Amino acid sequence: MPRKRAPERRRPRLEVWKFGGASLADAAAVRHAVSLVRAHRGPLVVVVSALAGVTDALLEGARRCAAGEGAAASAAAGGFLRRHRDLAHALVPAGPARRRLLASSDAQAREYREIAHAMAALADLSSRASDTLVARGERAASALVAAALHAAGRRAERVDAASIVVTDGRHGSAAPDLAATRKRARRLLLPLLKRGVTPVVPGFIGAGPDGSVTTLGRGGSDLTATLLARSLGASRVVLWKDVAGILTADPRAVPDARLLPQMHHREAAEVAYFGAKVLHPRALIPLDGSSIALHVRSFLHPERPGTEVSARRTLAAYPVKALATIRGQALVTVAGKGLMGVPGIAARTFAAIHAEGLSVSTIFQSSSESSIGFTLPDAESARAVAALEAAFRDEIAAGLVDGASARRGVAVIAVVGRGMAGTPGVAARVFSALASGRINVVAIAQGSSELNISFVVEDGQAAEAARRVHAAFQLSKIGGGHPPDRRRTDVVLLGFGRVGRALAGMAAGTGDGRIRIVAALDRSGYVFDPRGVSRNRLLRLAEGKDAGALLAQLGGRPASASEALGWIAAHAVSRPVLVDVTADETSDLLTAALGQGFDLVLANKKPLAGPPASYRRLLEAVAAAGRRLRYEATVGAGLPVIDTFRKLVESGDRVMRVEGCVSGTLGFVLSSLERGRPFSEAVREAVAKGYAEPDPREDLSGQDVLRKGLILARLLGYAGPAPVAENLVPPALRRLPLARFLDRLGSLDEAWRKRVAAEAARGRVLRYVVVATARGVKASLGAVPRESALGGLQGTRNLLSFTTRRYRTEPLVVAGPGAGAEVTAAGLLNDIQSLADVSQ
Ligand code: ADP
Ligand code: ASP
Ligand code: MG
Repeated sequence: MPRKRAPERRRPRLEVWKFGGASLADAAAVRHAVSLVRAHRGPLVVVVSALAGVTDALLEGARRCAAGEGAAASAAAGGFLRRHRDLAHALVPAGPARRRLLASSDAQAREYREIAHAMAALADLSSRASDTLVARGERAASALVAAALHAAGRRAERVDAASIVVTDGRHGSAAPDLAATRKRARRLLLPLLKRGVTPVVPGFIGAGPDGSVTTLGRGGSDLTATLLARSLGASRVVLWKDVAGILTADPRAVPDARLLPQMHHREAAEVAYFGAKVLHPRALIPLDGSSIALHVRSFLHPERPGTEVSARRTLAAYPVKALATIRGQALVTVAGKGLMGVPGIAARTFAAIHAEGLSVSTIFQSSSESSIGFTLPDAESARAVAALEAAFRDEIAAGLVDGASARRGVAVIAVVGRGMAGTPGVAARVFSALASGRINVVAIAQGSSELNISFVVEDGQAAEAARRVHAAFQLSKIGGGHPPDRRRTDVVLLGFGRVGRALAGMAAGTGDGRIRIVAALDRSGYVFDPRGVSRNRLLRLAEGKDAGALLAQLGGRPASASEALGWIAAHAVSRPVLVDVTADETSDLLTAALGQGFDLVLANKKPLAGPPASYRRLLEAVAAAGRRLRYEATVGAGLPVIDTFRKLVESGDRVMRVEGCVSGTLGFVLSSLERGRPFSEAVREAVAKGYAEPDPREDLSGQDVLRKGLILARLLGYAGPAPVAENLVPPALRRLPLARFLDRLGSLDEAWRKRVAAEAARGRVLRYVVVATARGVKASLGAVPRESALGGLQGTRNLLSFTTRRYRTEPLVVAGPGAGAEVTAAGLLNDIQSLADVSQ
């Protein structure tokens, strides 16, 4: 009897693996990529993107240089060189291979600088030059990965994509020539594979008919991977990304987006085309008509299957499977009552657009047929309008066409699913979901394939629209993989100082596990665990911080806060909340976080107490992103101050005035004076006990009180600028170094003693009082009767009274401990809990 062949003896089939930029963020990430490749038994072709952020940095440097900022190109070249040199040192042992790598990074950085400066001389950055400049991102990354693989014992060789991928030469977004690429890929790569070598190919780039480097458009490495897979007859393509796979929607806009275990390739092509960044828009084209499977998998969790894109049909119960959004679009319309009489109007419209070298994302026709419209990127709308006005010049003159116009600042949302074709009422469900959110639909289109319905909304409403439609089709119920738990709230701590640590301790202790801390950031870097940072680890981090170390030294990744947030937001975090416990100017960061889907909880007063315009911008950003903002802990720490205000307003009352003492430090110092303590001792004790800022002048200047007052006044409707607080530090001492200031404190004792005694003789005590109304804020030192509520305040306690229409003669008072890490953390936790409780 013939022996059966053992299945494992069958020759493993070729796979093409792509590592995206985020999977190549730093040395640890590249090592992880290398270990995945090493662990794989069969033949592989590896395609790599540029290291995370490199493409953006190279493009930005070149753009700014062309705009006249010559230093920007040198800075970009310097950053590029540093990143690649550091990684070369970390990943490749000293020797000729490392030397070659370093020399080539040097040369690439130098060339970049030279070309960018030459461009600056022309004051123009052509897309051809831009391609040449940006290509080095992928080229350098592939050289690095090949050398790292080799150093780790897997035979690997870098092969430049410009000698394999043949394109049509359209710089900036070239289309590959499949047949020509196939020939070259086979000629160059098959012999290597036969010898057991793993080719490492830079993604994103190719060469045009004239031999010049062309890029395949942003995210083009996905396309390189599918193109090579088709060319070489691979069995599957794996795209390793920093997301779990393809999700039902962009997790940055829809926090409860779920992993799709499987998707039909036509559906995947549709979401890619409609802007889901997870796949390049044309990545699936090379796979058309082949049986090559595509998998999008989690780089962080390689044991999980991710998303399979194939011809199977699953999830039959879901007529709609995914949403995709293209932001930053303009809706261009050609309108006119006589339009029906104009022959070939649509054809001429699109011919004019095509001739201008523009391409449209979606075509919309109004139901009255008196207009035809399409969307394209905002930046191209002016050119489109001009081209159309030229094309219809005669009809416009004859009054048949009114003209062309652009509505800028819109987004296109595509609702995608094969099951839509056989399910009645899908469109109705989409639009009633939008109507219930009072979202105005600007235009609608149904794809002829009935695979998608797309609609246009104001850009600012796009995220909310996506969330509404996602909920209407219950997409958060799709299972598979490890979907984020809808009831979970993932907390990211911006700042890991005393308050952050106190909050970490409390949150880790809240029983039901609904609120988890997934990340902490400080100025050095961040710690992130999508499954939640364990209690033990939080404790160890807190101990390390207490001992003076920074997160990057405690096992965290070095990164700027905005890089860290970008990375975290790219994961399927569930209903993420960013908690700002810094004392920094974080407005820009917070605005970016809103766009990434975070709700905000602040203990940091600065973003709310800056210039009126920046306060307004923050509130507008919150509204535009459909997110929520809480800041109870900014005034009176854990005391329900803002909560009281809101409850009064909600019950129909009107708050006219809020006043009181809101500084724990000033309260402590002033009430100590009454008991005969010298001013200097009281201040030193406030610092020693941690009530005051490290430099107590921050408190003594009244600045901190004024900020709190301004936050309250803004709630009452005040829109003016911040007035000046009464500064308790004499001018001569304001500029001294801290130590000298503390030394000189004693010189103030006598004056304070006298003033306190004089007031005491009249039955009064000194209090630093803030008064907030809709007309402004006042923060000043004043004398109040000892028997009054404010006069009786002791230590760090706060007291605020609300004068309202209903509480006019006897104001409503909120009082209690108003300073300290624990009570502040309690206020934060309350805010977080309130966000977790409100279902979206
Ligand atoms: P790569 O590292 O391979 O270049 P990308 O960063 O291009 O990966 O793609 C992943 C990003 O795509 C994620 O950060 C995510 O925010 C975004 N994204 C948008 N839509 C989706 C979706 N439907 N599923 C998964 N990710 C999505
Ligand atoms: N590095 C390129 C980009 O950022 C291509 C890619 O990542 O696929 O767009
Ligand atoms: Mg990409």
